[in-house]
Amino acid sequence: MTRVAFDIDDSLWKIDRKHARQVPDYDLIGVLRWFFNNGDQVFVWSAGGVDYAQMIVDKLGLTDMVKVIPKGKFGNKQLDIDLTFDDDKFEQIGKVNVVIRRDEKI
Ligand SMILES: [Mg+2]
Repeated sequence: MTRVAFDIDDSLWKIDRKHARQVPDYDLIGVLRWFFNNGDQVFVWSAGGVDYAQMIVDKLGLTDMVKVIPKGKFGNKQLDIDLTFDDDKFEQIGKVNVVIRRDEKI
C-alpha cells in the first residue's frame, strides 16, 4: 500500500489569480481518486492548518477517501509518506515528491 499525500492550495484547490478565487483541479482530484480506488492510503495537508484542509476536503467531496494530517516541515520524513503532490518545492518530505507547477498567468 502506497502512502500518498496531496496539498490543498495551488494543488487540489487551485488559485485562480485572474478571477481572484479558487477552483478545484479536477485532474489532480482524479489522480487522488485513482490512488484511493487502488487501495492506497491517501492523506491531505495544508499550511493553512488541519481545520482548513478538512473544510476544503469536505467541500470537494473527498471526506471518506482521505485522512487530513498536519503539514510536515521541510526535511521532516517522520510521516513516512511515499509520494507527495505539492506546489511548494521545499515540501520534499516524501520518498518521491511531485512539484506541481503554479500557473501564474491564470
Ligand atoms: Mg500549496
